[in-house]
Amino acid sequence: MSDLVWIIIVLVALAVCAYKRFTLTNTVAIGAAALIIATLFGSLGFFSWVFFALLAVPFVVPSVRIPYLTTPMLAFYRKVMPEMSSTEQEAIDAGTVWWDGEIFSGRPNWHTLHAIPKGRLTAEEQAFLDGPVDRVCSMIDEWQVNHKDADLPPEVWAYLKEHKFFAMIIKKEYGGLDFSAYAQSRVIAKLAGTSAVLSSTVGVPNSLGPGELLQHYGTQAQKDHYLPRLAKGDEIPCFALTSPEAGSDAGAIPDQGIVCKGEWEGEEVLGMRLTFDKRYITLAPVATVVGLAFKLYDPDQLLGNKTDLGITCALIPHDTKGLDIGRRHFPLNTPFQNGPVRGKDIFVPLDFIIGGADMAGKGWRMLMECLSVGRCITLPSTSAGGAKACAMSTGAYARIRRQFKIPIGHMEGVEEMLARIGGNAYMMDAVTRLSTVGVDLGEKPSVISAICKYHLTERSRIVVNDAMDVHGGKGIMLGPNNYLGRGYQGMPISITVEGANILTRNMMIFGQGAMRCHPYVLEEIKAAAIDDNDEAIQAFDKAVFGHIGFALANAVRSSWFTLTHGYLHSSPFKDSTARYYQLLQGYSANLALLTDVSMGILGGSLKRRERLSARLGDLLSYIYLASATLKRFDEEGRQHEDLPLMHWAMQDCIYQLETALMDFLDNFPIGWLGKVLKWKLIPFGHRVSKPSDETEHQIAQLLQTPGTARSRLGDGQYLTREPGSLPGELEQTLDDVIAAEPVFDKVCKALGEKRQFTQLDKLADIAIEKKLITDEEADLLRRTEAGRAKIIAVDDFAHEELVAAIR
Ligand SMILES: Cc1cc2nc3c(=O)[nH]c(=O)nc-3n(C[C@H](O)[C@H](O)[C@H](O)COP(=O)(O)OP(=O)(O)OC[C@H]3O[C@@H](n4cnc5c(N)ncnc54)[C@H](O)[C@@H]3O)c2cc1C
Repeated sequence: MSDLVWIIIVLVALAVCAYKRFTLTNTVAIGAAALIIATLFGSLGFFSWVFFALLAVPFVVPSVRIPYLTTPMLAFYRKVMPEMSSTEQEAIDAGTVWWDGEIFSGRPNWHTLHAIPKGRLTAEEQAFLDGPVDRVCSMIDEWQVNHKDADLPPEVWAYLKEHKFFAMIIKKEYGGLDFSAYAQSRVIAKLAGTSAVLSSTVGVPNSLGPGELLQHYGTQAQKDHYLPRLAKGDEIPCFALTSPEAGSDAGAIPDQGIVCKGEWEGEEVLGMRLTFDKRYITLAPVATVVGLAFKLYDPDQLLGNKTDLGITCALIPHDTKGLDIGRRHFPLNTPFQNGPVRGKDIFVPLDFIIGGADMAGKGWRMLMECLSVGRCITLPSTSAGGAKACAMSTGAYARIRRQFKIPIGHMEGVEEMLARIGGNAYMMDAVTRLSTVGVDLGEKPSVISAICKYHLTERSRIVVNDAMDVHGGKGIMLGPNNYLGRGYQGMPISITVEGANILTRNMMIFGQGAMRCHPYVLEEIKAAAIDDNDEAIQAFDKAVFGHIGFALANAVRSSWFTLTHGYLHSSPFKDSTARYYQLLQGYSANLALLTDVSMGILGGSLKRRERLSARLGDLLSYIYLASATLKRFDEEGRQHEDLPLMHWAMQDCIYQLETALMDFLDNFPIGWLGKVLKWKLIPFGHRVSKPSDETEHQIAQLLQTPGTARSRLGDGQYLTREPGSLPGELEQTLDDVIAAEPVFDKVCKALGEKRQFTQLDKLADIAIEKKLITDEEADLLRRTEAGRAKIIAVDDFAHEELVAAIR
């Protein structure tokens, strides 16, 4: 064999070691063994060994590596890496790493994913969903709430309090329901499918707010006082962070508290004088207790030797003297309670701080820790519930509504919309299931919660837009008969709250992900921050050489993926999902490699290159969304009927991922390197096509045809067939239309004419007279006509009725 072949053999041996992530010492040992064989059986000799030694010795001999490589690298690193602000540091420290860490590893372990338990409801949680949740859904008259009262009716408020809807997160010992995150998510999803006002009213007290903060950080006295009252609904909480000058940049709130002495209930006590101006605060107009975030200063050093204590959270009762509360904003025609809260020089005692004086200045960390949990539940579940409701209603409407003598849902153009609604609803529900189970397992998944918040609210915007288009004028004409228009109008609300979406995609997902989930980056940052230089060098040496091995491994894995197209990657299943596992494995290696290349080349400036960061975040996100979809498909027993939904979601995720990857490489700041990387990672463009017309046709059919797959898709939504329930009427009419069609065809055939599928009641009279159908069949035709006419009807008003309304 020629020298070249032997050199290739040695290099392949080293590449296999990198691929398998062997330790540096083992890799060098295997490389040396390959070289020995090549020396004994081939003609590789002295120079090959010198070359090998030059490469290997600095890496494996600490007395060479540490002074000549690690020490200068640490010095360089300290020079180029920007300091992390304390708010950034706290945001990163707040969360935990879960399945997102596997995605960043370059080789996610699918057995770990499938070993995550399926979300389950206790008997009590199931009974709550079937009982009080259904009941409150049936009590809602959306038109009354949105158009006439601009509020939930008093009996609904009372029912929500009585049945502890505001206490799902409060522990049993304080009288709360103490539901799992998974159960909360199912409740919110069901409410969201019925009324946005209802779901946001229930969602907020169960999300980031006084209840959550008190349970984690409150003093015993605060817990004993507030939690039972919150559980019973005697207290309604809100949480006020946002100020006119500080929205997205919430850490910059100008609101302040000054530590001072003052009079409280006739006594002189140590307290704070608060001045603040908050806006957009959900539930504020009806709140009895305001969770308030402000910056606390102690100029006279009454608490210690620090003057600037930092962001602090306190609970302020609504009747506190000087508190200006009660006015309302009007959020996009979705009139849930939301408004400003203001105060000037309000004096309150220090023990109003959540957790007492000891927690002064710890507010940001408290908020970040709770946000990482809350963001996984409320908004993603609202979005998934809304999408499921749209899938059910739009599928039914498309089958009921006819134009050109056929159901509009049988037209290819409409099928495209229906498929997007159905595929997204399937995937979104999968994501909420997986993410809330993570929370129940004790995770605080800050990166995953940002992914859920951004992607599910964005997907729900796509879904509601498509649903509106399919409904045509029916979706546009507001009135008691419209079940879509308000959800469409209110859509930007969920895009904006809890971290507006542009910021979330461009800064948070990858920004936090790279720091938090990368196996070495945080270790390097921590090592560089160690004051003791020897200790810092030792820690940095471990992190940085682990990092180098990791990067080499991902470079090799990415090349192997390109070379084999992923076909040699293993998959836990051998069916039509196998290819998706193989591709995701490869894209995980690509993500890890590009993260290292970007951070290595752009360093701290990557933070400012938001669009690059966003696209890397997209890679991470789509692997997560796709993982959740695969997990759902497996958890539900790998149902054959669900295949079109699963394939749509997977193909859409992977197609979007590949688009983000190519856009990232096309826009890489060093043009030639972007081209080289594109050639290395995705030389022939998309590996996956968009979902096919045939897949989309199957989903459109599925949405319009009652059956197990359709029921699974709408599982957990309020679809009860009772008078006054628009979703229930849609379901009933869908069944009736499908049952009536053969009767209609039979009559048309007997009469020898192809009629329009309208005026079925009149047709029933003719058919009975001519003895063509039975009485039951005639009843079916009449019922179908009544249902059909109601479903396609829209409302109209006298001019005075409209001008007198709240808008
Ligand atoms: C209906 C509703 C309910 C709310 N409820 C509450 C509540 O209960 N309590 C509370 O404290 N707050 C609440 N908020 C406030 C909400 O959290 C803020 O609206 C949100 O943080 C965005 O702030 P902003 O509206 O001032 O937008 P801005 O901060 O002015 O942002 C405008 C746009 O710029 C983008 N942007 C900003 N910075 C960046 C960046 N670095 N990179 C890229 N894009 C960026 C944002 O994504 C956004 O699209 C609520 C808001 C609404 C609308």
